[in-house]
Amino acid sequence: MDDCIFCKIISGQIPSFKIYEDQNYLAFLDINPINPGHTLLIPKTHYRWVYDIPAQSEIWPLATKIGQDLKQKLNADYFTYITAGMEVPHAHIHIVPRFQNDKMTGMLDQFRINSTIQEVESVYNKLK
Ligand code: 5GP
Ligand code: ZN
Repeated sequence: MDDCIFCKIISGQIPSFKIYEDQNYLAFLDINPINPGHTLLIPKTHYRWVYDIPAQSEIWPLATKIGQDLKQKLNADYFTYITAGMEVPHAHIHIVPRFQNDKMTGMLDQFRINSTIQEVESVYNKLK
């Protein structure tokens, strides 16, 4: 896609710190990391959302492999995935090395809609 920043990273028009590459996937360091080693794993084909990627059974084990490698090399306590995609419209998995006292705790709190239990149950009734 012409005006996609991650497609430009794939084609080499924009530089990146690559940490993994094969025929179909690229992983590189996020320019504005949550923690040191914050990595973005992307398919080389442009898809909008992570769930649009046909090879789900390929990309998730690869994300885990990269996460384990980051964890070991950076001496992290664990790692987490984020699939947000609000800023860049090219499917990407954030792989974030995590440390016990890092600043990511409670990150979802800013988005909560403060539902009552009745509202939660009403959604449940639509889903069951
Ligand atoms: P999201 O779309 O999931 O909200 O986040 C997109 C991520 O891409 C952000 O964490 C942002 O820092 C990262 N990002 C945006 N532009 C660039 C870029 O040109 N190079 C790199 N390495 N990361 C980028
Ligand atoms: Zn793209």
